[in-house]
Amino acid sequence: MEEFRLSDVFTGVDSAKQEEFLRDTMVDEKPVCRDCWARYFCGGGCYYAAALANCDHRIPHSAKCELTRRLIELAIWILTELRGWNPHALKRLVESVFRSESPVVFPIPRENDSIPAYAHCENR
Ligand code: SF4
Repeated sequence: MEEFRLSDVFTGVDSAKQEEFLRDTMVDEKPVCRDCWARYFCGGGCYYAAALANCDHRIPHSAKCELTRRLIELAIWILTELRGWNPHALKRLVESVFRSESPVVFPIPRENDSIPAYAHCENR
């Protein structure tokens, strides 16, 4: 966990560490992502999932990459088809997305949910 510490409640954010972390995780800097066609849609995936799968937050989970690329392909296909079938519906969809003020909601783990740990990485 220490490698992910960017701040603490007493001293605040360590700007140098934050900058280094962000620089290392930019999609054009990550070796696996650099050549991926989906990189500007995906953004490089989840750091936590990467750390769980590969013990390195910069190496994305390969199964999630396959899923992400497939979902992006499907989204592009749906938008392309919708443009041909019903351009008015596509326009309304795009407008509703940009107009949306709904907050992004993340699920909160319940008390008995097991939260995966990456302690197995510590000995690598
Ligand atoms: S799909 Fe995978 S390899 Fe491609 S940008 Fe996303 S995390 Fe990186």
